[in-house]
Amino acid sequence: MDLNTFEQQLRLPSPLTRIKDSVLDEFNIELWLKRDDLIHPIVSGNKWRKLKYSLNHALNIKSRRVISMGGAYSNHLHALAYVGKALGIGTAAFIRGERPKQLSPTLQDIEQWGMQLTFVSRSEYRKLRDYQGYDKLPGMQAGDYWLAEGGASELALRGVGDIAFELEQDYDVICVPCGTGTTLAGLINSVPNSTRLIGFAALKGADFLQEDIAQYLTEQNDGNWQLQLGYHAGGFAKLTNEVKQFILAFEQRHGVMLDPVYTGKMLFGIYDLIRCGGFSAGQRILAIHTGGLQGRRVSV
Ligand SMILES: *Cc1c(COP(=O)(O)O)cnc(C)c1O
Repeated sequence: MDLNTFEQQLRLPSPLTRIKDSVLDEFNIELWLKRDDLIHPIVSGNKWRKLKYSLNHALNIKSRRVISMGGAYSNHLHALAYVGKALGIGTAAFIRGERPKQLSPTLQDIEQWGMQLTFVSRSEYRKLRDYQGYDKLPGMQAGDYWLAEGGASELALRGVGDIAFELEQDYDVICVPCGTGTTLAGLINSVPNSTRLIGFAALKGADFLQEDIAQYLTEQNDGNWQLQLGYHAGGFAKLTNEVKQFILAFEQRHGVMLDPVYTGKMLFGIYDLIRCGGFSAGQRILAIHTGGLQGRRVSV
């Protein structure tokens, strides 16, 4: 299947859901969710947007295999393995840590879809992040196309920027969860300067994101964004009981599933900021539901 045919099967532009409840009423806040989680049951969320132009490029230059890296629950690798299979392009990945006896559900899927897995130690994994000449990566062959951890690249920025073109009304604030910060950076580059952007870090101690994001920005567009570093709920892939209860209550109230790694923490943070006066009455907020629900099998 070619890339355009695959994209035609996706639910794009992704739908919008307006959230209504007593907290939003009390503080007079309009909250909308951009449902990127509904783009596709597997290739959901920002991962399609981040992969689209890179895969297109890889196909155009006749790459035989796309190679990347990630952890045992990586949404990025899960999406890549699935799309690779659909498009008939090979995929491979370096996985952090030793091969476990029992593979995570995520790794079971991706291996079944034909991705070749190479397990590397944590220190080797860190080194892989620093390889400048990707042709020097261990095991790289002619015709391999390298995708950085999380799919971060200039082309990924363009892909997530497409979210901005789908918006039909103005928002005062756009909120997005952050792993590598690529999605936030792509949005900062693509929305009008009058829109404020807030990124919610899923990792603990994610100060480095400030610089990582700044380096992705085009000059016309900086300043009107901020990071919230305090809503990691204990760290990446960890969860406090408070956030867990919030996620379950939100799902019951609104019928929208949240993933515990990213979107659950972001929405917890948004409601907390609303209560602390972080938004002005009358403001319209858009939160990007970046998907990630395949990870919901293992947590909460
Ligand atoms: C990967 C991912 C993110 C983080 O995106 P970045 O561009 O790396 O910041 C957020 N939400 C979900 C559900 C993801 O899978």
